[in-house]
Amino acid sequence: MRILVIGGAGYIGSHNVHALIERGDEVVVLDNLATGHRQAVHPAARFYEGDLRSAADLDKVLAENRVDAVMHFAAFSLVGESVQKPLKYFNNNVGGMMSLLEAMERHGVDRLVFSSTAAVYGEPKTVPIVEDAEKDPTNPYGESKLIMERMMRWAGQACGIRSVILRYFNVGGALEDGSIGEDHRPESHLIPLILQVPLGRRPHISIFGDDYPTQDGTCIRDYLHVMDLADAHLRALDYLAAGGESTVCNLGNGQGFSVLEMVEAARRVTGHPLPAKIEGRRAGDPARLVASSDRAKAVLGWQPHAGIEEIIRTAWTWHQKHPAGFEDGQAAKR
Ligand code: UDP
Repeated sequence: MRILVIGGAGYIGSHNVHALIERGDEVVVLDNLATGHRQAVHPAARFYEGDLRSAADLDKVLAENRVDAVMHFAAFSLVGESVQKPLKYFNNNVGGMMSLLEAMERHGVDRLVFSSTAAVYGEPKTVPIVEDAEKDPTNPYGESKLIMERMMRWAGQACGIRSVILRYFNVGGALEDGSIGEDHRPESHLIPLILQVPLGRRPHISIFGDDYPTQDGTCIRDYLHVMDLADAHLRALDYLAAGGESTVCNLGNGQGFSVLEMVEAARRVTGHPLPAKIEGRRAGDPARLVASSDRAKAVLGWQPHAGIEEIIRTAWTWHQKHPAGFEDGQAAKR
């Protein structure tokens, strides 16, 4: 198949591009490099620097490449920033989806795999979370993704675009050889921040709250390896190619780990004492987010393989090989 990957220079997008190329698909990447890295794009992919919100950019890519399906990873995703700058999120995320659906209709492309998020659920009433659980986002980022999902549903019904919406929980890890990995600037995710301690870039890891109603008082999350995530995306493409109807699936390991357990696992993987300091809660953090991935298993035949040690081990390989991340001047841009 020939696949257009929008946001293929970002963390999750670049790992998906790699998985697609490995299995023999042709890949076209569109990315505006606002948060992605040119170096993260697989050399075998055809790369276009352009913006999803530009009809002209999308028309150029879709006219020059007859694609079978689109994978959409290009969205802003920082919860805290979204609270400060909601319109930036609605403009980029919702505006991007609008522009994409219009372009897909114009060019007769009718299959879409979309990165959504556990943030659409907000504070869960029951755990593990199933897809039909109540959706009540607690921040503009989650709200923007929920609006995007709803746009896909309505436009899909009217224009015949079939889609798989994948709601991710926490994602970590990197390609086994450490050639690409996670590089957000600024970094706000737990695993890369933990690993900055053994890298000598911060003296300790801050633990945001130890008074949650969990076994050790720290927040519980469901961590999935980025290549297990990519496997689910490839299966979603195959499902749509086989005529599958639109669906939505959660993606997680189905097992929760506390922040303290993650720090302990990183101590085992790195052999570093990894000092930790308890600090106040981070605003908007639910105590416990764990996915039910039963539907992904049933519909896509998907099963995650990597546990937290493998997630941290592969992330550690990437960070050791690239202590300053991608060296493409992204830091200088900000
Ligand atoms: N966290 C933490 N210290 C940090 C960064 C994150 O204790 O320096 C906690 C955070 O409060 C949450 C968990 O680690 O409970 C995962 O946070 P992350 O930002 O990686 O993902 P999120 O769950 O917000 O999507």
